[in-house]
Amino acid sequence: MKITALDVPGYEKVMRADDPQVGLKAFIAVHDTTLGPALGGMRFWPYASEQDAMTDVLRLAEGMTYKSAVAETGLGGGKSVVVADPRMKKSPALLHAMGKFINELGGKYITAEDVGCTVEDLLVVAEETKFVTGLPRERGGSGDPSPFTALGVYTGLKAAAEVTYHNDNLAGKTVAVQGSGHVGYWLCKHLFEAGARLYVTDVRPERTERVKKEFKAVVVELDDIFDVACDIFAPCALGGILNDTTIPRLRCKIVGGAANNQLLESRHADALQARGILYAPDYVINAGGIINIGLELDPKGYDECRALERIKHIGAVLKDVFTTATANRISTDKAAKEVALRKLRDAKLRTDAASSVGAGAKARDKSKAR
Ligand code: NAD
Repeated sequence: MKITALDVPGYEKVMRADDPQVGLKAFIAVHDTTLGPALGGMRFWPYASEQDAMTDVLRLAEGMTYKSAVAETGLGGGKSVVVADPRMKKSPALLHAMGKFINELGGKYITAEDVGCTVEDLLVVAEETKFVTGLPRERGGSGDPSPFTALGVYTGLKAAAEVTYHNDNLAGKTVAVQGSGHVGYWLCKHLFEAGARLYVTDVRPERTERVKKEFKAVVVELDDIFDVACDIFAPCALGGILNDTTIPRLRCKIVGGAANNQLLESRHADALQARGILYAPDYVINAGGIINIGLELDPKGYDECRALERIKHIGAVLKDVFTTATANRISTDKAAKEVALRKLRDAKLRTDAASSVGAGAKARDKSKAR
């Protein structure tokens, strides 16, 4: 396997791995470890080009830094992507090679599940590296994070509804969910149980069939999801889907979902605001999974009750972001980033202060010894 370090300004470490024998082409990006080791999922996707894969891993890793900072998980931001079609059977050799690649970063990057990656895949990766989270409970992990992410999104959507409709009851509200995968499924379940009407789409028909059957969802064509007249549009597939083409088509009051990097560019948050649509920043509303997984690394050990309690807090964090945005006349995206950057700055100041206290004490000890 050939591993190459890439110099990317603004990132602590970016690495690429190539192993043609096992069909591995992968990137790991560590954006920032000020608050702790960089934890972020491993994505399998058939990127059209290497540049697309790089762009995705960099954006995702940066997003993880802000997500963990806002959610106060004590973790930094990182991500990995593997250029591969997740529908193809992944060979153990490919997954082992990925484990070896992760080991190269010596714990600076810790992996987890993401699009195209299953817990079964992680178990194979874990045969090579200990830097894996989200393993099944019986293997000492916290299990699939998706239900926790979905609960956080659901909690966040209720908070957004309260701000928009002055009532957090989602009964009778119409929600268009893009992507019926791991998180999309659980989100649909919460919404259905709350009495919401659902429209769904997915590139995999078996997934939409399931939510149609279980939650009475109306299935629409992939591209039609943007035109559904609804209260909430919930992106739960891939990133970059809020852009110049899609935003003018949206017929909703709220955008909030699990997908990372929903905005193609930050300015698209302003475009949503200009259209009177309340945007729940992705890394704030989808932090349930990282909150849950982060507790695996807690010295007190993983505790599901603590995870659920902290995930319920996502609604309050979002409301703070909405209030900050209104008060400062900025987009909710900028408001969320301000909160994240402030937390990173505070942490750096605390670290600097602690190390200068430590250095002072050492100097005093030395002069006493003389
Ligand atoms: P998943 O792979 O299980 O589901 C994604 C689904 O989106 C798949 O079923 C896929 O077929 C579908 N899809 C892809 N392109 C589509 C398109 N153009 N239109 C409609 N559907 C499309 O992944 P997941 O774990 O459910 O994650 C969904 C999103 O949430 C991802 O962006 C992921 O990064 C993000 N996220 C997931 C978690 C988690 O706990 N799993 C946590 C935070 C963020």
